[in-house]
Amino acid sequence: MPLAANNPELKSWVHVPAGSDFPIQNLPFGIFKTRYLSAVAGVAIGDYVLDLVYLHENGYLDGLGLPPGIFNQKHLNDFIALGRKTTRAVRNRISELLRADVDELQQNIAAREIALIPVTEVQMQLPVQIPNYTDFYSSEEHATNVGSMFRDPKNALLPNWKHLPVGYHGRASSIVVSGTNLHRPKGQIKLPDSDLPVFCPSQKLDFELELAFITGKQNPLGTHITTAEAEEYIFGFVLFNDWSARDIQQWEYVPLGPFLGKNFGSTISPWIVTLDALEPFRVQGPEQFPHVLPYLAASGKKNFDINLEVLIQPEDGELTTVCRSNAKYLYWNVNQQLAHQTINGCNVQVGDLYASGTISGPSPGSYGSLLELSWNGQRPLQLANGAHRKFLEDGDAVVIKGFAEKDGVRIGFGLCEGKILPAL
Ligand code: CA
Repeated sequence: MPLAANNPELKSWVHVPAGSDFPIQNLPFGIFKTRYLSAVAGVAIGDYVLDLVYLHENGYLDGLGLPPGIFNQKHLNDFIALGRKTTRAVRNRISELLRADVDELQQNIAAREIALIPVTEVQMQLPVQIPNYTDFYSSEEHATNVGSMFRDPKNALLPNWKHLPVGYHGRASSIVVSGTNLHRPKGQIKLPDSDLPVFCPSQKLDFELELAFITGKQNPLGTHITTAEAEEYIFGFVLFNDWSARDIQQWEYVPLGPFLGKNFGSTISPWIVTLDALEPFRVQGPEQFPHVLPYLAASGKKNFDINLEVLIQPEDGELTTVCRSNAKYLYWNVNQQLAHQTINGCNVQVGDLYASGTISGPSPGSYGSLLELSWNGQRPLQLANGAHRKFLEDGDAVVIKGFAEKDGVRIGFGLCEGKILPAL
């Protein structure tokens, strides 16, 4: 049965500008602070943030089984650990309070003034404390492009690729919230004309366009999560930029995989869009052949039709869109990723982040990294100000946007943005 909070007919008494990522049908959760408030939980609506501490303390969320102080915390982990039944009930209640035909909060002018904070007055924080981060490699187009570039175009996919969602354990400590600038990493690089490595700033700094899910429930060590159970464990999604130093990565990754070329920083968007809000945008994923092993079988609409876009803004220049892709292209879905992650008894924790891997589509304009867009530097891109890019330069900001749209409702993610500062 469709969720009442997703009804496209709903209208809010809060003004939601046309093209906003945050209509009443979205209601993503995040952590914000202001000049007057330390970090607390909020929900985005139009150009405002709804203060959940205020709503909770003033009785607007009574009867939902919420412990005292649950929103007065600098991370959402304890809230999402209450489980999907409770977090769904909270989203439904907030939807009700914001509905144009419901007077309760709308008619209490004093409460409205305090509870709704203009987005221009808030600083968004990392929404969860992230215990573990896994990066998958689930786009067939991306894996094919990289395999063609560095191995053999005729056998671009390695033999395991269509049998399991390839992934690795990344670094959680360096995941930062949108708006955090990062210094260009330095490391060991082996230049093509030399037998020995040098130590210098990366000359092939890249972005990776990804979507990531955050878990809200743990499984005990030694147990696994089936594809059918996976959705009970997923709280919601964020946009993810897995910044990558290709030259450091290329020298270090054999034989154990990505390390310092990846872990200097990864950026997430601040609002967690719930799995509930994305329900109307489910689509069938690509057909999987050869057939997967039974523990990876997942039928039905497990992919999401989410438009994704990457823009580059050079220092003192305007934004240029360099990539338009879509999450629906992903070969492996989130149910399969979570089932595979745990099939050996590995335990997931509340707040873990599971990234999709670079999401490339079928056409060159939909490739989700500069590595692919410039074909490892062979085909430089032209930006709107006339400058060319093979890889990122100092002062470049990368902005990822994402939104799903249907029946006049746009469920957006806000921005996932970061700027590259010179190496230290
Ligand atoms: Ca990645």
